[in-house]
Amino acid sequence: MALTGIQIFKLLPKTNCKECGVPTCLAFAMNLASGKAELDACPYVSDEAREQLAEASAPPILPVQIGNGVRKLTVGGETVMYRHEKTFYNPTAIACKVSSDIKDKELKAKLAIWNAFQYERVGFNLRPELVAVEDAGDAKAFAKTAKTIAETSEFNLILMSDNIDAMKAAVEATSFKKPLIYAATEANVDDYGALAKDNDLPLAVKADSIDALIPLTEKLLGMGIKKLVIDSGSREIKQAFEDQVAIRRAALKAANRALGFPTIAFPCEMASNLGMETMIAAMFIAKYGAITVLSDFTTESLFPLLIERLNIFTDPQRPMTVTEGIYEIGTPDENSPVLITTNFALTYFIVSGEIEGSKVPSWLLIKDTEGLSVLTAWAAGKFAGDDVGMFVKKCGIADKVKNKELIIPGYAASIVGEIEEELPGWTITVGPREAPHLPAFLKAK
Ligand code: SF4
Repeated sequence: MALTGIQIFKLLPKTNCKECGVPTCLAFAMNLASGKAELDACPYVSDEAREQLAEASAPPILPVQIGNGVRKLTVGGETVMYRHEKTFYNPTAIACKVSSDIKDKELKAKLAIWNAFQYERVGFNLRPELVAVEDAGDAKAFAKTAKTIAETSEFNLILMSDNIDAMKAAVEATSFKKPLIYAATEANVDDYGALAKDNDLPLAVKADSIDALIPLTEKLLGMGIKKLVIDSGSREIKQAFEDQVAIRRAALKAANRALGFPTIAFPCEMASNLGMETMIAAMFIAKYGAITVLSDFTTESLFPLLIERLNIFTDPQRPMTVTEGIYEIGTPDENSPVLITTNFALTYFIVSGEIEGSKVPSWLLIKDTEGLSVLTAWAAGKFAGDDVGMFVKKCGIADKVKNKELIIPGYAASIVGEIEEELPGWTITVGPREAPHLPAFLKAK
């Protein structure tokens, strides 16, 4: 059971030295109790107290690492019910299921297609992380298929079998990839627990209900196994959704450690077509699936899920930004127009998209405004004329162009005079207010 702030305070040194970043030990204790601080921030906690505090400072939903390599991921570690309260930390992992009796050639063809599903957005590489291999009844084929995926692709693995011998063979063949073992059940919990523990692998736990999960996770915790992922067993949409909410609520609000683990959901077992599966997966990305498993990946199913995931798992208190600097749109030369705007990601993508659409090669200067859009940045004094002028000077665009004309957003028309003072020799032109008017504006120049 988690400790209260006062209970934690009693275990702290009570020197109020402030080294943890807050003025008093009591404030630190309160932050620790509410998951807003890390125990390591206080360097003076005794080993004895540290042991007692470890549970209190652990996240209510334990983070679990799966896999190796570039698609290694962490699931769980969440601390809030609602994204606006703080943020969601570890994006829902997206998996695709294959049967172990798939032909080698077909598997390699699928992996090549799936591997190509990678999309660059706002500086992130969006892609799925996992392939779930389901044992079709032949232990050798199960291990072989898993090994092929582990050795020939970047994907990490979920190994799905209720046959302990088949699972042992697959684990032996793929343990270097740190696969998730699926799943310990009431019938095999001792064997699967031992296998996960011996190989230091994450383990999924499946039961017929939330109530039936609790004794299983408690038993595994008793065996010293904490890297757990839980499956309440429901494959009916409404019940599966309610289970996700109930598990999150139990872990966060009731500090129920037996349910404080990331969850796995199977849209592929809840619908008869990929479109419906995708909609169910979208629901689990929003609430609160840590891993969601589909029956296939296609661009039209995967891309919207990746974009939804990107939006759900960004910090709502920190706007998405692009890096300050000079961006080339097309292949601009020394006579190409020079435009400037702010580093709010949405502004950048809309403006750069319109310039690209105009087919007029251009230089786009992006000024850091802490992620604010043009009008907001101007109102907040982060897109002031002298600042803009200084940035243009220091960014180096003057070395790239003969044409000393700077096109500023229409919404910032009032800063023309200040920029002119800061940038003698430049002509400052007020561009359109709205990005969709940029193509006509650029073509008319
Ligand atoms: Fe107290 Fe430790 Fe923070 Fe110092 S660093 S104020 S001892 S909690």
